[in-house]
Amino acid sequence: MTGRKEITGPLPPGATIGILGGGQLGRMLAMAAARLGLKTHIYSDEAAPCAFQVADARTQGAYDDVRALEKFAAACDVVTFEFENVPDATAEYLAAHVAIAPPPRALSVSQDRVIEKSFIAKLGIAVAPFENVESADDARKAFANIGAKGAILKTRRLGYDGKGQIKVTSADDAARAFETLAAPSILEGFVDFAFEVSAVAARARDGGFALFDIPRNAHENHILKRSTVPAGITQAMTEDAKRIARSIAEALEYVGVLAVEMFATHDHKLIVNEIAPRVHNSGHWTIEACIVSQFEQHIRAVAGWTLGDGSRHSDAVMENIIGPEHDEWAALAAKPAGLHLYGKGEARAGRKMGHITSLSPKS
Ligand code: AMP
Repeated sequence: MTGRKEITGPLPPGATIGILGGGQLGRMLAMAAARLGLKTHIYSDEAAPCAFQVADARTQGAYDDVRALEKFAAACDVVTFEFENVPDATAEYLAAHVAIAPPPRALSVSQDRVIEKSFIAKLGIAVAPFENVESADDARKAFANIGAKGAILKTRRLGYDGKGQIKVTSADDAARAFETLAAPSILEGFVDFAFEVSAVAARARDGGFALFDIPRNAHENHILKRSTVPAGITQAMTEDAKRIARSIAEALEYVGVLAVEMFATHDHKLIVNEIAPRVHNSGHWTIEACIVSQFEQHIRAVAGWTLGDGSRHSDAVMENIIGPEHDEWAALAAKPAGLHLYGKGEARAGRKMGHITSLSPKS
């Protein structure tokens, strides 16, 4: 291939958006693209990921298979991704051949919790106190410095849904936790939060910015169970969330949808936990409750279109359907709610199989 394909204006209907990753987020992105007359090509290392069912084209390949990536880049007008653990080398390789959005820097920042928290703190945004931990001794010292209210030791990379993290209540505990994780880690002071919220925002190539209404998020067994909008936060917190999401998006020269997960404290402050450089589970309610969903905003941004109207017309509660809850699909289908089943095979414990969104008049 010669040169790098650039995006010089909005991609016309019929253009192809490549999506790295074939899970439910890729599936819902492909469905949103189809609504706008855009095609999708899914690249996944799995044999039959659920996004393959709804895409125009599909490639099964390892994320470091340079020949497969080259063919994929040649077949797409722009490439995006639906998970943040895309290897650096993959993103860089693709970026050399085809336009890619969000920018690969958003991946490298969000893949490493120490880099991520340092980046956010530098923007003047509150994060939990944290220290880099590379040894059991570091873990002890960090606990002595920031563990007054307890702490959590997390691996710097590749943790999700509570995996790779251990709550600790003493310096000895922290040292033991480091031996268990056996990987470069971060110790975070425990935040005594009232509840969790997220800012799901979109930034377009022309710098246009839009924030969806803020959902309140409840987790069960470290997995998101429910998102509720409105979140019941103050106007000042909403403005704060917007300022936070916007300054992160601008600092990254971001294009696409990003989510910022935050703790809301008892005294109405927001503390950022982490950034997800992609569409997010806490934004699924936007499909039913907004004119333009998070998935469509992402596709619009990536394709160089202007953002759509993401304003919310109804109150909404989104619940995930996890593992064997999927067996109840017929009863769920009888509810007056928006049911989404992801077309996945086995309903293993903890696996996100679908979600359901109930609407009520806007309060
Ligand atoms: P994470 O993997 O960073 O998204 O963390 C998963 C969950 O653990 C969060 O949604 C919180 O419920 C909890 N958690 C993470 N970090 C902290 C912290 N510093 N203080 C209190 N709770 C936390």
